[in-house]
Amino acid sequence: MTELSIDLKGKKGLVVGIANQHSIAYGCARAFRRLGADLAVTYLNEKAKPYVAPLAEELGAPILMPCDVSAPGQLEAVFEEIGRRWGKLDFALHSIAFAPMADLHGRVVDCSREGFTTAMDISCHSFIRMARLAEPLMRDGGTLFTMSYYGAEKVVPHYNIMGPVKAALEATTRYMAAELGPKGIRVHAISPGPLKTRAASGIDHFDELMSRVEAAAPAHRLVEIEDVGLTTALLATDAGRLVTGSTTYVDGGYHVVG
Ligand code: NAD
Repeated sequence: MTELSIDLKGKKGLVVGIANQHSIAYGCARAFRRLGADLAVTYLNEKAKPYVAPLAEELGAPILMPCDVSAPGQLEAVFEEIGRRWGKLDFALHSIAFAPMADLHGRVVDCSREGFTTAMDISCHSFIRMARLAEPLMRDGGTLFTMSYYGAEKVVPHYNIMGPVKAALEATTRYMAAELGPKGIRVHAISPGPLKTRAASGIDHFDELMSRVEAAAPAHRLVEIEDVGLTTALLATDAGRLVTGSTTYVDGGYHVVG
């Protein structure tokens, strides 16, 4: 029988998307660490750095770098540093999204061309770029993660243009899983239930959504970033070695009743 490890000891991972201690990416980073991985962590810009740096220190991250995916060269620089320092990468987490407020708060029908392009670029195409940069460093296989939401599948009031963007992200996950599978690289979309984060504060009537989900979800409780992190981290271990391309819901079961 082959040797299996249900931990991440000796594994190297990249975490993109920590803004503060409420970020889903931080919940994932903690779980990756808990299973023994070493992490590279990024922050959006100098304004975000003071919030992220202490968390990166607590996570014992040997690499901490700026990464605005819309700034030319920054994502590439992160992967160069990982290649230089580690010479390999075992997993990478993409936990970022953005849409201009006017477009996020309006109907899909009214979404501007620039707003749509920006939202797709930052929230979806950046995951493609991450995968392309990760591929040569994942010579022994690896796992790529992105964060989606139920609004990709069903119309969720006030989720607006992020619904189509997340639908594209989930389809991208399936295609990349098919393309990278032969190299042992797995690709996952994780779909958490609603969590009070900075990104979520941009969505209108978010509190109502949370109450609705809490009441209807089979688990009758809301998820926490720790729950999302544990499921995600487990999928990066050998326990997930033949799981790829899917959208994995961490939502107390809401998607089966919602
Ligand atoms: P968050 O605000 O903590 O994280 C969003 C991150 O996106 C931040 O770290 C921000 O710096 C980053 N980001 C935005 N523009 C960027 C850019 N140009 N370059 C690099 N990074 C950029 O909020 P969160 O809720 O943890 O969001 C993480 C992911 O989870 C997002 O994809 C979001 O859509 C998804 N998600 C959130 C929920 C929820 O209820 N909060 C539910 C399902 C999915």
